[in-house]
Amino acid sequence: MIEVHGLEKSFAEQRVLRGVDFTATAGTATAVLGPSGSGKTTLLRSLNVLEAPDAGTVRIGDARLNFADPPAGKAAYRRAVKALRARSGMVFQSHHLFPHKTVLQNLLEGPVHVQGRDREEATEDARALLAQVGLAGREDAYPSQLSGGQQQRVGIARALALRPEVLLLDEPTSALDPELVGEVLDVVRDLAEQGWTLVIVTHEVRFARDVADQVLFLDGGRVAERGGAEVLTDPREERTRRFLSRVL
Ligand code: ADP
Repeated sequence: MIEVHGLEKSFAEQRVLRGVDFTATAGTATAVLGPSGSGKTTLLRSLNVLEAPDAGTVRIGDARLNFADPPAGKAAYRRAVKALRARSGMVFQSHHLFPHKTVLQNLLEGPVHVQGRDREEATEDARALLAQVGLAGREDAYPSQLSGGQQQRVGIARALALRPEVLLLDEPTSALDPELVGEVLDVVRDLAEQGWTLVIVTHEVRFARDVADQVLFLDGGRVAERGGAEVLTDPREERTRRFLSRVL
């Protein structure tokens, strides 16, 4: 489902991604962990082309973009970016909901106004998604009337409303008060169990260990270690060991 090869990205002189490779099969959850500044967020944003990598390829489903040799011409490049972007939905650290729109309106914005889908069908979809994230009946609430955890769950439903093939989550619980973290992680866990293809940047090591089929440990812009949950229980690399001893 996801294939990333040789991804490179620099900001000014700083090389943030130094040749990242990984694959993820459909229906699996991949957790990306690593020290602050190791390039986790940049990697995730590259999958959605919120950052344009300098080199490397990203494939999601049947959309593929080679950043070292992109399609010639601005229009062709934009089409390729759009095709890739349409394959994934993004959940950010803070939810970025429209404050002056209701929950339902927030969920319809993408499907109806951007994708041009039928409003009734999109509304039905949105209601089902709200039920899925435990917010049935809150369609008409405004974001400010919801707790941080509820807002973030709306953020997840909104990303799913675009019917992506892959859901990308960038530290979805790091801006939440500790007592609200669990309810958001429970929703992510449900999605994983239902067979969604997920890539999640997280500092929640125990959660990653329980839920992830694949763990990527990033260090200095490279995948230092990759494997199953054993990366977090019995790491091969000293760098991973050190990281875990600090965060656990
Ligand atoms: P992580 O998610 O692992 O903490 P990031 O991908 O956020 O790492 O950042 C890696 C490095 O890239 C950091 O040093 C950060 O300051 C830098 N960086 C990230 N985004 C930008 C940007 N838009 N402009 C300049 N530097 C950036």
